[in-house]
Amino acid sequence: MEIIHITAECYPVAKAGGLGDVVGALPKYQCKAGHLAKVIMPMYRTKFLYNNNFTVDAKGTASMGNLTFEYTIIKEATNKLGFDLYLVDINGLLDREKIYGYNDDSERFTAFQIAVVDWLSKWQHNPNIVHCHDHHTALIPFMMQNCFAYRDKLKTIPTILTIHNAQYQGWMGWDKANYIPAWDSWKQGLLDWKDTINPLASGIKCAWKVTTVSDSYMHELRSNSNGLEKLFEYERGKCYGILNGIDNEVWNPKTDTYITNHFTYKSLVKGKQKNKEQICEQFGLNNELPMFVFIGRLVGEKAADVLPAAIAAIMHSFYGQCSVLILGSGDPAIEWELASFNARYQGYYYADIGYNEALSHLMYAGADFLLMPSRVEPCGLNQMYAMRYGTVPMVRSTGGLQDTVKDMGEVDGFGIRFNHPTVEDIHYSVSRAIEVYQDKTHLNWMRKYMMQIDHSWEGTVAAYDSIYG
Ligand code: ADP
Repeated sequence: MEIIHITAECYPVAKAGGLGDVVGALPKYQCKAGHLAKVIMPMYRTKFLYNNNFTVDAKGTASMGNLTFEYTIIKEATNKLGFDLYLVDINGLLDREKIYGYNDDSERFTAFQIAVVDWLSKWQHNPNIVHCHDHHTALIPFMMQNCFAYRDKLKTIPTILTIHNAQYQGWMGWDKANYIPAWDSWKQGLLDWKDTINPLASGIKCAWKVTTVSDSYMHELRSNSNGLEKLFEYERGKCYGILNGIDNEVWNPKTDTYITNHFTYKSLVKGKQKNKEQICEQFGLNNELPMFVFIGRLVGEKAADVLPAAIAAIMHSFYGQCSVLILGSGDPAIEWELASFNARYQGYYYADIGYNEALSHLMYAGADFLLMPSRVEPCGLNQMYAMRYGTVPMVRSTGGLQDTVKDMGEVDGFGIRFNHPTVEDIHYSVSRAIEVYQDKTHLNWMRKYMMQIDHSWEGTVAAYDSIYG
C-alpha cells in the first residue's frame, strides 16, 4: 500500500513534541511491514536540511488568494530515515527556522497544504491513502474533495486524519476563505465551525476516517475538545482510538546514542545509578536521593502552572529527602518561576529551561520517577519512554496516561496514578514514591516489569492497517 503522510513535524527533521516522534516512526515501521510509506512536510531551515543530501523532485506554481507562489519539492537522497522524505519549499513562508509560532502560521500552513494537493494532483498515479496529521494538514481532505482544480483527480483517494492534539484547531476568519482554491460555495458548512473556518473540524467532517492516539482520549473528546464535542459525538461512527507506539530503535537503554551508560532490565540497578550519577554531577544534586523529573512543554495542558506550588510543597515536606529536575520550555511566567527556585533549593532542585533532546534521554535513563500531572494527554510518549528506561511514571489518570500506566496498588501495577492535577495529589504521590523508593525489592520488580512491556510500533501499524481497509 502506498501511504502518504502529510505533517508539520517529523523526527529527526523537525520536532516540537509527540507529533514529531510519531510521524518519524510510524512510516518507518509501515515500510518494515511491507508498505510504501512516504512523508511530506515543510522545508524549514533546520540542521537536518543542511546536514543531508536532497534532490529536486518537482516544481510547481499555485495560488492562495491573491498570492501566486512557486513551490519546490525536494527528496532526501538516501532513504536514511527508512521512508521517502519530501520537503516542500515555499519562499517567504516556509523558509524559517522554527516550526510554529509566527503571526502568519495560517498563511504558511494553508500554502503548504495547497502546494501538497497541487503536487499530488499532478502525479501519474494515485496513492492508496492520504494520511493527514493535526490541524496543519486537516484542510487537505476538503481540498481533495471539493476544490475544482483537484477533485476530479483526487476525490476517490481515501483520507485519514489523525488527531494528536485537539486543543489546537487552526481557526481562521471567514475573510480568509479565498485562500482555499476555488470551491463550491454551498460546501461552506464543511469548513465552518461556530462561524470561523476551523481546519480541524473540517478534517473531521471530510476525512474518510478519523483517529486519535488513545482510546481514552477519543472518548474524552466527546465531552471535552475545545468546542468540538458535538462534532465528535456526531462523527463517532468513523472515529477510532489507536495508541501510539514508541520507536524502540531510538528509545532503547541498551543502544541509546544519547547516553553513555547503557543497560538492560538485567543490569538496570547499576545502569540507572550510573546515569543518575552523571545527571547529579551536572546539576549539583545528591545521587543517593530519589530523583523526580518532569520533561515537557511548560503549558497549562501539561499542568505546568501547578509545578511551582507543587515543588514548593514538596521541598517544604521532603526537603533533603529527594531531588527534582525539570526540563522544559513554554509559558515565560512558568519558566521564570521554575528557574527562580534554582537558587532557593540549590542541591535538591534544578530547572533547565529549554529544549534538549540529549538531556531528555539522560533523564529518562537516570531518574527514578517521571511526573506527568497533565490536564490533557492524548497519548503521552514520555511515560512510555520512562517505562522503557525503568523510570516509574507518576501520572494523572487521563487520556493515554490512563491507558498505559497501572497503579502500583493494583495487581502487576508499576506506576503511580492520581486523579487531579493539583498540588495535593502531586504531593501525596511524591510521598508514595518516596516510600516505595525505600523498598528496593518492590521498586526493582516494578522497574524490571515495565522495562519489558511491549509498546513497539508493530501492533500500532497493524491497527492502522485495519483502519485503512
Ligand atoms: P506533546 O506532544 O504534547 O508535547 P508527548 O508526550 O506526546 O507530548 O511528546 C513529548 C515529546 O517531546 C517527548 O519525546 C519528550 O521527551 C519531548 N520533549 C518535550 N519537551 C522537551 C524538552 N524541553 N527537551 C527535550 N525533549 C522534550
